Amino acid sequence: MMAGPTEGTGGSAPPRGKSFLEEIVEADRESARFPGPIRTRFPPEPNGYLHIGHAKSICLNFGLAAQYGGTCNLRMDDTNPTTEEAEYVEAIQRDVRWLGFQWDGPVRYASDYFEPLYAWAVELVRAGKAYVCDLTADQVEAHRGTLTTPGKPSPWRDRSVAENLDLLGRMRKGEFPDGSRTLRAKIDMASPNMHLRDPVLYRILHARHHRTGDAWCLYPTYDFAHGQSDSIEGITHSICTLEFEVHRPLYDWLLDSLGVPLHGHPRQVEFARLNLTHTVMSKRLLLRLVTEKLVSGWDDPRLPTIAGLRRRGVPPEAIREFARRIGVAKVESTVELALLEACIREELNRTAERRMAVLRPLRLVIEDWPEGREDLLEIGNNPEDPAAGSRKVPFGRELWIERDDFRAEAPKKWFRLAPGAEVRLRGGYYVRCRSVETDSRTGEPTRLLCTHDPASRGGSTPDGRKVKGTIHWVSAAHAAEAEVRLYETLFAVPDPGDVPPGKDFTHHLNPRSLEGLRGCKIEPSLAPAAPGSRWQFERIGYFCADEKDSRPGAPVFNRTVTLRDTWAKIERQEGG
Ligand code: ATP
Ligand code: MG
Repeated sequence: MMAGPTEGTGGSAPPRGKSFLEEIVEADRESARFPGPIRTRFPPEPNGYLHIGHAKSICLNFGLAAQYGGTCNLRMDDTNPTTEEAEYVEAIQRDVRWLGFQWDGPVRYASDYFEPLYAWAVELVRAGKAYVCDLTADQVEAHRGTLTTPGKPSPWRDRSVAENLDLLGRMRKGEFPDGSRTLRAKIDMASPNMHLRDPVLYRILHARHHRTGDAWCLYPTYDFAHGQSDSIEGITHSICTLEFEVHRPLYDWLLDSLGVPLHGHPRQVEFARLNLTHTVMSKRLLLRLVTEKLVSGWDDPRLPTIAGLRRRGVPPEAIREFARRIGVAKVESTVELALLEACIREELNRTAERRMAVLRPLRLVIEDWPEGREDLLEIGNNPEDPAAGSRKVPFGRELWIERDDFRAEAPKKWFRLAPGAEVRLRGGYYVRCRSVETDSRTGEPTRLLCTHDPASRGGSTPDGRKVKGTIHWVSAAHAAEAEVRLYETLFAVPDPGDVPPGKDFTHHLNPRSLEGLRGCKIEPSLAPAAPGSRWQFERIGYFCADEKDSRPGAPVFNRTVTLRDTWAKIERQEGG
């Protein structure tokens, strides 16, 4: 069974017409271009963790397969032993599953096909369509020509089949050092498509592979492995990002030259990759952030990695909905981070229970509340979800409130606390501030002395008196403590790649991307929060108990998103 993304989850989700991918798949079904059900694949290179751009590709590939009754493979394109690791292979599987998808059969590996790929290489040599070239990488580059000038043929282009076979065999046996020889396709050094100017198919690399160990010292290039791997797996629709459009003639040439039988040629369809503001997405740059310790690891909640988003508290449903809303296009664009955040808020608004937490505490004393008396107030867990029920929240004489909810000198339209002002305590009573104690050195308030209206329990009074402001609170006698991590965007500008000369993308790192708060006061029911559990802190935002550092009784919360954002921005982006 394949778990597809849920359609139409949000009331405000805009409707969407058929995508060009859906149209292509439907046309192929109608013309019976492929005999069986459709088969897609998600083919990451295990050289880093997956990010939200990959999530778009995952949702597309698994989503299309589910929609048309087909299947989707997960294949590690592991042709480059020097950058790939088993850790990444594990992380990729975890992330795909967490997003809600299950691949067909076992995880596949391009390295599983090294033997048939090599046999195909031999076949190309036999057919006179590939040759062993002794040029170095730099020389190959110099011979390639430019977009406006044709390339120069390699002096080794016309070796005999027998010599090529002999050399290829010895390359495999390990007789030659790294970089001394390559196997190249013999196509057309004058082709306007640079990828057809005798591309390299195999290079010598005496490197240990995370799966095949030392069995090989000759590795296929991505271009040689990719199309053939699709073909071996019977992929019908090979969906990839736009940069592979120019590689397509090469994939076609290879499959044609090899007379690939069985399932025929996959249809390759390209789409625009996802770019997102305020972040970088290339694994190369993400790797730098991790190795240079500019973030805490691949799962740092500020990263756009799936592991980071998960740790931050983003539900998988929100990512799937985001992918649905951005849709697919043939033209690259950059999506506002605000759109992702809107999807997260919508999902959490429906599903996250409300709790009260005070991040920067200020003590409030209700002087006319009898010493030792405590009330249990019944407060609803989620107004959006009646099934979420309610909980009892202890209330007493001394409370913690947010320091920001009090002003010694209130501006106009200040509806929160100030000397003489009255506010509603969420789910509790009206209180009026009678006097303020301050720190004699700093002038900062230390205690607010208040009175309450006993008739206002539950939030209104018989006299119908209007109180505009409602603030949250935690009973001081019952409060538990928590550490809270507030995140801002990792980069301070929408386009981190836009840097002054001589600077790189780290130039725009946001120095305020993480603010850690300790000694936050939380209502008692939050203290046992399970790692990974998601909550709305009333009036503050959505938070998630950190999956690594949080423990029941000693919770650590990550802020997932704030409660609001500029909706105007978002509406401009939607409808793609
Ligand atoms: P990066 O450029 O981030 O290193 P990549 O393309 O090298 O990514 P792969 O592991 O080769 O990463 O990608 C696996 C699949 O995910 C490919 O089919 C690729 O086209 C797709 N993909 C990668 N980045 C994005 C993106 N930003 N948006 C959509 N799809 C993407
Ligand atoms: Mg790649």
